[in-house]
Amino acid sequence: MAIMSELQSYQMYINGEWSPAGSGKTFDSFNPATGNSWATIPAADENDVDRAVQAAHQAYTDGPWSRMSATDRGKLLRRLAEILETHSEQLGHAETVDTGKLFKETRWQARYISDFFHYYAGLADKVHGETLPIDKPNMWAMTIREPLGVVAAVVPWNSQLFLVAVKIGPALAAGNTVVLKASEHASAPMLEFARVFEEAGFPPGVINIVTGLGDSCGKALTSHPLVDRISFTGGPETARHIIRNSANNFAEVSLELGGKSPLIVFEDADIENAVNGVLLSIFSASGQSCVAASRLLLHESIHDAILKEIVARAAQIRIGDPLQEESQMGPLATLDQLKFIGNAVDNAVSNGAHLLYGGQSPAEFSSGWYYEPTIISCPNQDLDIVRNELFGPVVSVIRFSDETEAIRLANDTQFGLAAGVFTANIARALRVTKAVRAGIVWVNSYRMVSPLAPFGGYKDSGYGRESGLQAIYDYTRPKTVWLNTSSDPISDPFVMQ
Ligand code: NAD
Repeated sequence: MAIMSELQSYQMYINGEWSPAGSGKTFDSFNPATGNSWATIPAADENDVDRAVQAAHQAYTDGPWSRMSATDRGKLLRRLAEILETHSEQLGHAETVDTGKLFKETRWQARYISDFFHYYAGLADKVHGETLPIDKPNMWAMTIREPLGVVAAVVPWNSQLFLVAVKIGPALAAGNTVVLKASEHASAPMLEFARVFEEAGFPPGVINIVTGLGDSCGKALTSHPLVDRISFTGGPETARHIIRNSANNFAEVSLELGGKSPLIVFEDADIENAVNGVLLSIFSASGQSCVAASRLLLHESIHDAILKEIVARAAQIRIGDPLQEESQMGPLATLDQLKFIGNAVDNAVSNGAHLLYGGQSPAEFSSGWYYEPTIISCPNQDLDIVRNELFGPVVSVIRFSDETEAIRLANDTQFGLAAGVFTANIARALRVTKAVRAGIVWVNSYRMVSPLAPFGGYKDSGYGRESGLQAIYDYTRPKTVWLNTSSDPISDPFVMQ
């Protein structure tokens, strides 16, 4: 009882009000740095979800939002962006405590997402229809760009703040309303975010945040008949459920899913840049990033030298409390993830992979879900560890002998989210970029994002793009209007001309 009373108690944000689940049920959220629960979160069921969707529908069809000009929507989003800049500590702190991601990164990200809202604020009144040079006499034809209606946004537990910006920014700028379902593993940052929306002065129902489990709350939301679009980020298996749920409402769907991204280092690459790129690509956020480069493809002539350097640098990474500025790698977000990754590494080693560094939880932590940066040399890409997304600080290293083989290995995966190419040869960089089947290719860099740059995958990494200009169009649809400009009556339809 004593411990329970110390837990922070959160409520959901529905129709501009803070509310518990109708059933009164809650679940605990855990701090991965300690392994202890730190907050209680409402467990929404289908009635709560219905309340949120009805509120969003009402705001879209009948509320002040439906009458607001695009310019005024932009002003409101800009106000949100400005307020956000002053809340980065509070938002970053909540995300760090809930997910174990380093505070210095979550705080920075909370500040940076303000740029996304500024970007979409600027676009709000620049999306419009067209007049068509129509091929019919006495007809004026045009399109009007309209918002879709209620958007269901479903997010995973990593990069919460970033995901809320790339989904909610364009959806609201285009005039939609939103019901966002937070991850059951990290609901607090989303509920903290709702406070910022409240402070910015969005009308009730425009943005609603519900919390709960996937197969109850998530299913009820994505199959709700009043939902017009689903923007999902998460794993491919959940995505299959989402697609099936959308058969219920014919909602448009966009999917940002997992990855098994390759990072290719050619023999002419700048070694220091490549080594930093590798460390950035897989050990940032403890590898819990959809774009983590978990397959490192090294040219045989530099293979040993690069590996030696990466192992030496991995050994220097300071694992620690994610709230501390000096920590360089925090814990994994869930205990299940810790077990899953430990088993995957052990299996790989029993099946012929060679462990070069890491492979266990660091001995100095008696609590918390920490795992060492781990480097594994793999004889080929057949092992499960090379094929499946792990979502942890584990990189599988594979050797190649020429450009053709590097491209073949890079594309030998069910995923296609991102890739890195390290080379000093610009022609090769462009050839490989073109040949790699991935939605994002970073050349001599990694993990750059921007509100201006589309983000999304190929193959099992999903479809649709977030960020960039196109994203706002994807939250609208054209309505075609035909206008008869003739002063003569329409000819008799039963008399052929
Ligand atoms: P997940 O798929 O388990 O859960 C994602 C969300 O879906 C959660 O909110 C969950 O409650 C909900 N959900 C679960 N079952 C559902 C159902 N039947 N109907 C509706 N909603 C349901 O993912 P996770 O483990 O939280 O996150 C990790 C995954 O997310 C990884 O695969 C990672 O690569 C991916 N991810 C992708 C991107 C990207 O932009 N491509 C970004 C971040 C994370």
